[in-house]
Amino acid sequence: MKSIDNLFDLLNQTTSSPVSRQQFLKTAGRGLAVGAVGSTLVGCDKKPETTASSAPATVDTPSGPVPKLPATSPPAEVPADSTKPIELEQIKAKTEQQEGSTPTPLTADQRVGYAIVGLGHLTLNQILPAFGAAKKSKVVALVSGSPEKMKKVAAQYGVKKESCYSYADYDKLRDNKEVQAIYIVLPNGMHAEYTIRGAQAGKHILCEKPMANSAQECQAMIDACKKADRKLMIAYRIQYEPHHRIVRDMIQDGQFGKVKSIMANNGQNSDNPDHWRFKKALAGGGSLPDVGLYCLNTIRYLLSEEPTEVMGYIHSTPNDPRFKEVEEQVNWLMKFPSGIQTSCATSYGHHDDKNYKVLADTGWIKMDPAFPYTGLQLETSQAQGKENQIVQHKISDVDQFATEMDHFSECVLENKVPFTPGEEGLQDQKIMEAIYQSAREGRPVRLAAVNKKDAFRGPMPKES
Ligand code: NAD
Repeated sequence: MKSIDNLFDLLNQTTSSPVSRQQFLKTAGRGLAVGAVGSTLVGCDKKPETTASSAPATVDTPSGPVPKLPATSPPAEVPADSTKPIELEQIKAKTEQQEGSTPTPLTADQRVGYAIVGLGHLTLNQILPAFGAAKKSKVVALVSGSPEKMKKVAAQYGVKKESCYSYADYDKLRDNKEVQAIYIVLPNGMHAEYTIRGAQAGKHILCEKPMANSAQECQAMIDACKKADRKLMIAYRIQYEPHHRIVRDMIQDGQFGKVKSIMANNGQNSDNPDHWRFKKALAGGGSLPDVGLYCLNTIRYLLSEEPTEVMGYIHSTPNDPRFKEVEEQVNWLMKFPSGIQTSCATSYGHHDDKNYKVLADTGWIKMDPAFPYTGLQLETSQAQGKENQIVQHKISDVDQFATEMDHFSECVLENKVPFTPGEEGLQDQKIMEAIYQSAREGRPVRLAAVNKKDAFRGPMPKES
């Protein structure tokens, strides 16, 4: 180790323009900071040299030794073990909460490149920021009807100018080799057309929920993706989220005995009658396909079973300009083969409320809220001697859009069937159509019996 005097002497021996001791001391702090990223000389005209040695050196300063990091250049190629977590030294006592292994994101070149179609609320507020947390997915192209907005978004997320497309140019995505997958975030009534055209352009499709406006459209989307040999996944974020996964395990492991019934509710007070959500052709329906779908899809996921009968009731406030074309409120019952009965409610007309409660013979499981992007709360109750023990489970949030996109990327990279493929969206659509039919006809509607568990899902995601 060299003292500050040694360094001063060394400097004046090696430079062609000697510096005074005063000058040297004035610049030493600044120069040593430069040294921390790999330079060796300070306070002189001479160009800093980079250290060739890989072993970290240290220099003594008046405040003690400062480690000097070895100079590094980017590795020429990706190391073979890049998917193994980097080992860091232990800094917490073993009795403390641990950080777990370091993340192992894929390198930029290995990630699946996405084109995002539609730059509305969900894309700007959730999906684009989620790429920051994604490990296997990257955004490489945008499709929008608003060139000004797209220019801004492209600059914010580093998308190239030539990878920004208008709706008229959508099919040109075919020629963009960086795009492997298209994420469709358009009004529901446009999902079918853009899925089919996207698959025909040779891209894999991740499509927002609800899958489409009718079972017929859903089937056409599945067929088009099969014909083009492209993958199709419906973006059911709840099925890629740890709280709901834990509830599914609790139910299926029988932790609270046999489940008898589930009550689920997803409603909010929506406004703006001019928005596409209140236009039948673009939305397909009102609260049911938009938010009520979460109750239906989550219950099917938790139970792995399919309902055999539904009974629905619909009400819309008369003369409310929002509900001229789509419904305000739907309440419905479902019967499952195991005897479980469920009761669900959805609305566009009441204050935000999103939750469910599973009633089993030896306990209950409650998630409230259950369907927002963050802040989910899981609580369970079970008798312990003379007490009913109520437990609040602390589970960290994940970025639901990042986990969902990364699952789809993994399916593309490893040629696997997505956990929530098109068939899963089609089944929800069939059940919603039966609920509407039941409400219209004022009678229960029976559904085709499905005996297999998780009949419409692919293999469970690795990371769950
Ligand atoms: P939004 O209205 O904010 O965005 C829709 C985008 O589509 C806008 O950029 C709009 O300009 C564009 N668009 C193109 N053609 C249009 C047309 N003819 N009419 C209207 N808009 C048109 O909607 P959003 O809330 O972002 O929802 C988009 C999709 O995402 C919907 O299918 C919705 O159900 C789904 N969504 C899913 C979640 C989730 O949690 N997974 C949450 C919200 C929305």
